[in-house]
Amino acid sequence: MSAVIIDGKKISAQIKDEAKSLAAEFNADGIQPCLAVILVGDDPASRVYVRNKKRACEYVGIKSLSYELSEKTSQQELLELIEKLNNDKECNGILVQLPLPEHIDEQKVLLAIRPDKDVDGFHPYNVGLLSIGSARLKACTPAGCIELIKRSGIDIQGKSCVVVGRSNIVGKPVSMLLLAENGTVTVCHSKTKNIKDVCLGADIIVAAVGIPKFIKADMIKDGAVIIDVGINRLENGKLCGDVDFEACKEKAGFITPVPGGVGPMTIAMLMKNCLEACRIQRMA
Ligand code: NAD
Repeated sequence: MSAVIIDGKKISAQIKDEAKSLAAEFNADGIQPCLAVILVGDDPASRVYVRNKKRACEYVGIKSLSYELSEKTSQQELLELIEKLNNDKECNGILVQLPLPEHIDEQKVLLAIRPDKDVDGFHPYNVGLLSIGSARLKACTPAGCIELIKRSGIDIQGKSCVVVGRSNIVGKPVSMLLLAENGTVTVCHSKTKNIKDVCLGADIIVAAVGIPKFIKADMIKDGAVIIDVGINRLENGKLCGDVDFEACKEKAGFITPVPGGVGPMTIAMLMKNCLEACRIQRMA
């Protein structure tokens, strides 16, 4: 039997519409939620991401401040801009588009963002809250994975969840979020032995490896839920996930496509985070 294809475009559109309603409520109270997006350098992919974020802000009704800085911007200049935005009452969220040029220390920059404006959820303070089960601003892509699962009517509680990948931006936070949903979580990485056997025991697999078609049909059990975070560009220019979609969809219960699965969720969750940041700051 063929799997249910989880429609990330549709679910992300629902979330953006929910965010739009929430933004309208803020507006009715005379508040204009605002996100600052900082881009350093002119990486073409980053430019596209930033443009899409600005578009989503426009749709939802979030004001966006755009800072497009030259590749030569010093770390000090960037830190000064973040400090200015940290102290700007009109600005609720600060997003620094990664990757940064090599001469800038990414960790220093992420640490400089005020935790209640950290809409990417990468600040160690927010990571800490996530790990004690009190998440506030959650990393967007991992939070998007959870929404895809829950909004497809899948209960995570008690399920065997296998996350393949342990990066700080996807693997680790998605593992913590699955744990917070009472999943029984195993994290695999490049040093894990017998990944196939581990995956075969999974009710839910989240793949965040960065290797095209890493998860094969003989690694998943019948009816498993497969969430593919991977975005890999093949030599023919096409996008491909970390899961062998065509083969796995014949065996899985639910599966996300690439593109059109996890990808669109990241920006939708960013919009949600921006409004959550606005709420947190109003409560302070
Ligand atoms: P990363 O390179 O930082 O981490 C990859 C992880 O995979 C590492 O923890 C590593 O241990 C593990 N790994 C590598 N080789 C392995 C192997 N042979 N067996 C088992 N584990 C192995 O990557 P990332 O930033 O976590 O991103 C992962 C994928 O998700 C990439 O394709 C990236 O483009 C994509 N991504 C998508 C979004 C989105 O919005 N949809 C956001 C972030 C990342």
